[in-house]
Amino acid sequence: MKYNLFSIVAGSEVCNARCPFCVSKMTPPNGIGAKEPEVDWRRFKQAAQFARNHGVSTAMITSKGEPTLFPRQIREYLMMLEEFGFSPVELQTNGIPIANEKPVTPRMLEDWRQFGLTTIALSVVHYEPEKNRQIYLPHQKKYIDLPALIARLHDKGFTVRLSCTMLKNFIDSPDRLRELIDFCREHKVEQLTARPVAKPQHSRDEAVYTWTQGHELSNSQIAALNDYVETAGFLLQKLGYGARVYDIGGQNFCFSNCLTRDPETDEIRQLIWFPDGMGHLKYDWEHPGASIF
Ligand code: SF4
Repeated sequence: MKYNLFSIVAGSEVCNARCPFCVSKMTPPNGIGAKEPEVDWRRFKQAAQFARNHGVSTAMITSKGEPTLFPRQIREYLMMLEEFGFSPVELQTNGIPIANEKPVTPRMLEDWRQFGLTTIALSVVHYEPEKNRQIYLPHQKKYIDLPALIARLHDKGFTVRLSCTMLKNFIDSPDRLRELIDFCREHKVEQLTARPVAKPQHSRDEAVYTWTQGHELSNSQIAALNDYVETAGFLLQKLGYGARVYDIGGQNFCFSNCLTRDPETDEIRQLIWFPDGMGHLKYDWEHPGASIF
């Protein structure tokens, strides 16, 4: 069995944003609650070793909420990961606690880099601040200054990825995608990933499920996006779980999906470390039965 990614669930389910499509609210808690869990570091190291033994080179710190609300724990994970030699080491975040320097100070960013963090993936739904505000911070007047955050992360020596969830009336057509790619090029964003919003088979939150269903791209919208990408891009890589990586006018672009497993192949997208109680290694967010130990 081949795995592509070692995902580490850091922090708790607490988030500072209010995305109406929040996949964490739809998928099972997998033992993660509102409190920052104690990590069983011995089990964590076994999970990291398992990933390395199965050829995984990329580690990503992510969360059921917003991981950067727990910066001390991110530092601990990075320290523990060092001996395993993962590269790249990535952090998935909505970026807001970094942009606001609360609780993530510039000093912490430097610290994370020293401990091997290479890439910061910022979740967005658009290149326009107002569109991002509507989704991430509907309870606030302003969204963060995204170009300033990108510049700061570059200044600190990080590779930046924008990770865009595609929604109806947001990034939903070739024109909007082209503009997002232009934005990335202008701000020297090294990597752009876009994936259509998706809902799990079963959701534990009806309101989030209904909102997501109402904002999924139609088949014809996805077909138009595929056509554009195939025409404008040079295909660099096909990944086993259906994602494709292109060069579009010099911009790295990964057109992805939210699939974590395809039982027809011997390739699984990710191993996931859940620090629940004694800690578990799984390979699916949605199905707790997908357990390794
Ligand atoms: S930033 Fe992530 S965890 Fe937070 S509300 Fe949005 S989708 Fe959920």
